[in-house]
Amino acid sequence: SREVVLKHRIETKPVPTHFEIVERIVPDHPGDGKLLVRILYLTFDPYLGQAIRGQHMGEPHPDAGEPLPGYCVAEVVASGDSRFAKGDHVVGQAGWGEFGMMDAAGARKVDPSLGLAVHLGLLGTPGLTAWAGVTQLARVSQGDVFTIDAAAGAVGGTAGQLAKILGARAVGIAGGPEKCAQARDVYGFDDCIDYRQPDWIKALTAATGGGPSVHFENVGASVLLPVLSSLRIYGRVVLCGLAEHYHADGPRPTMPIGTIIGKRAHMLGLVVYDFFPRLAEWVAFATPHIKAGRLVELRDVSEGIDTAPQQFDRLLQGNNLGKTLVRVDPS
Ligand code: NDP
Repeated sequence: SREVVLKHRIETKPVPTHFEIVERIVPDHPGDGKLLVRILYLTFDPYLGQAIRGQHMGEPHPDAGEPLPGYCVAEVVASGDSRFAKGDHVVGQAGWGEFGMMDAAGARKVDPSLGLAVHLGLLGTPGLTAWAGVTQLARVSQGDVFTIDAAAGAVGGTAGQLAKILGARAVGIAGGPEKCAQARDVYGFDDCIDYRQPDWIKALTAATGGGPSVHFENVGASVLLPVLSSLRIYGRVVLCGLAEHYHADGPRPTMPIGTIIGKRAHMLGLVVYDFFPRLAEWVAFATPHIKAGRLVELRDVSEGIDTAPQQFDRLLQGNNLGKTLVRVDPS
């Protein structure tokens, strides 16, 4: 089995040359509490860049040759836990390889009838993050004007569709015309503003009829600070991600406290870990919408485990268009 690992431990932004592909012998039996799995899809999420360089709050710092962090959807080949059987489809962590070893305690069975990749995006952590921010923190409802950046991405696309389902007007913010077109055409945002254009904040204020009542932040200061100045009085702001700051090794942005006071704004910090116990609630809500075509997902997929370093880099450069995945077993 082939596996992607680090050549050496790193403390800087990961780049493709930090990784190598090694051959591993697949054991016959996983041992107690473990699952031997055939990996079908790997998902790449922005936090992995920080985890791999040892800067993420909840993740260990991987060493050379160790299994890399991140979730996959996989098929159980052999089980060391009576709750799982050969042939089950599971989501869990098993490294970046063709086969891997998964802790049964951290694995969950998934229903393949809706597809497999969906359990890493819409029905996985990005979908849960969007649901948590939109419905549990900001409590978006009819009459709200909702904005979100990284709108063509996994969290952004789901959050925009959810806001629409709940009766809000949704205006995306994304980097470049192609991403904006996808946000409008695939996710159904009412509008999408390209924040690489000059005067984009004027265009956003116009597209929102005087500024958003709810803003969901995924990128960082270059978007958040102008949007705060456009926010309606008593607006709510979900602080979810800082994609532009994760590897920009300068000082972190400071908050414009005066503007927040003047706007009477509610700032709502989101950590998806708090909502992991409620994944089933989100899946039950989302499934009928997926079946009816009201919740869709754009995927940015590469083929084969050897494409993993380049595909990961695509995400870390912000060049991904939708949920970033590697289809490990294209058969
Ligand atoms: P995306 O698929 O949205 O990919 C990240 C996007 O961030 C890029 O496509 C890009 O979109 C944007 N971006 C802007 N500047 C940069 C930069 N300098 N480097 C890289 N990307 C940049 O990712 P997800 O949907 O998976 O995640 C969205 C955000 O939500 C991330 O910040 C992530 O860390 C956060 N998150 C937070 C969670 C929490 O618990 N708080 C849980 C899950 C995700 P564009 O070109 O349109 O700007």
